[in-house]
Amino acid sequence: METYGHYINGTWIHDENNFTVYDKYTGEAIATVGNASKETVNKAVESALETFRSRKLSPTQRYDILMKAAGIIQDRKEELALVMVREVGKVLKDALAEIDRGTQTLIASAEEAKRIAGTGIPLGQPGNDQKMAFSIRVPVGVVCAITPFNFPFNLTVHKVGPAIAAGNTIVLKPAEMTPIIACKLAEILTEAGLPAGFLNVVNGLGSEMGQYLLEDERIAMYTFTGSPGVGRHIKSATGIRKVTLELGNNSPNIVHRDAPDLQRAAELCVTRGYSNAGQACISVQRVYVHQDVFNEFVDKAIQVAQKLKVGDPKDPSTDIGPMIAEREAIRAESWIKEAVAQGAKIAFGGTREGAVLQPTILTNTTPDMKVMCQEVFAPVISIVPYEDIDDAFRQVNDSRFGLQAGFFTNDLQLAMRAAHELEFGGVIINDVSTYRADVMPYGGVKDSGTGKEGPHHAVQEMTDEKIVVIHMQ
Ligand code: NAD
Repeated sequence: METYGHYINGTWIHDENNFTVYDKYTGEAIATVGNASKETVNKAVESALETFRSRKLSPTQRYDILMKAAGIIQDRKEELALVMVREVGKVLKDALAEIDRGTQTLIASAEEAKRIAGTGIPLGQPGNDQKMAFSIRVPVGVVCAITPFNFPFNLTVHKVGPAIAAGNTIVLKPAEMTPIIACKLAEILTEAGLPAGFLNVVNGLGSEMGQYLLEDERIAMYTFTGSPGVGRHIKSATGIRKVTLELGNNSPNIVHRDAPDLQRAAELCVTRGYSNAGQACISVQRVYVHQDVFNEFVDKAIQVAQKLKVGDPKDPSTDIGPMIAEREAIRAESWIKEAVAQGAKIAFGGTREGAVLQPTILTNTTPDMKVMCQEVFAPVISIVPYEDIDDAFRQVNDSRFGLQAGFFTNDLQLAMRAAHELEFGGVIINDVSTYRADVMPYGGVKDSGTGKEGPHHAVQEMTDEKIVVIHMQ
């Protein structure tokens, strides 16, 4: 059993309250982790603020630290991946892939440290002839990063990397289901040369100690990835301070009758609906297929699903592991049962063993079913036929979410229409909603959030543009 407290000003401190982290497949207890008190949160914010005010790292120092950390991570790749296999239940190949993605996110953040720039401002209005102006970008100060359980390495790097690159200090609050990998990241950044106080980690149950973070006015900005309910609460609790929110989705994908390769579309929809046991914000959930190719697509999708191996995440050949908790698998199973009672048909899967939900394909679903209109966050996809593309666009947009959507078509005009008309932060043509390159601007509209991630865009969010005006005699 490992023990983690809170990492504050370069030291691990332990307070009285703790909780246990379990292996999500075996149920074995793997770590004891601190549940921060108000006083501990206060110390972490104090450390971050004092450090921000008293110590600066140059852009090249920030670059060097982040690059060195990327190297250490690659050297320890297998060990770090195994942490996630246990605390998330993530299958080994996905855990290894996440370590690689996180490394690249860190490298991209390092590069951004060298590119932070303002602009020249022409003041070409009468009366300003003796003035010149330019802007600089300055760090916002203390950034509070609150992260979710599902990609606890890469999504933490997406916040910590740009915050360091931008010259901020950080208070990180990892998801309580999966805090160990974030603690390891803090140790690695320290080993890479990040001085004490730049990254402080407070562990704990968000519903209890989260409030201490939200009400601390010394924090200049919150960067949150997680559920829409908590995101809404954070926005309302933090007043006029800066917030970026990366929230949920019930990701739609359209497969038109002219989709360039129906087999590829079926493989992508199924595998990206089920990767990480469907627990990704851009997991394929709703699949709208033109009626001319609907039956063929459903047959292909079932064939792909049949080949997937479900079970022990430590087995290198496993494709789908357990969900984060048995109660989550029970919740998803109950949504499936409710849909079936309302007329849906199970084309594949639908059964559950403990926290492991069999990958499931539903047909005959209707827009009001929970599996369609809410974020299912489980390995469940619904395949819906459509006759008219305008109707498909309308159904896709008929959602309170708007993170990313996928569209398979060979028709350039239609692809461009989708780019303009689908109400999402990203429209992915000839690939699924799940596609994300870590350097691209990423973020949603509607209840999917506000603000963008991706190292370049996150650095913009985490800096303020300051205007400098000079009077020339
Ligand atoms: P969650 O909202 O339950 O928890 C996220 C974090 O918020 C955790 O660290 C938790 O402890 C903390 N938290 C909870 N209550 C809090 C409070 N009152 N004050 C402050 N912090 C609090 O989300 P989750 O279950 O860990 O993650 C799943 C959700 O995250 C899904 O909705 C998914 O779509 C979303 N997500 C979005 C993205 C994206 O980039 N848009 C990426 C991954 C996950």
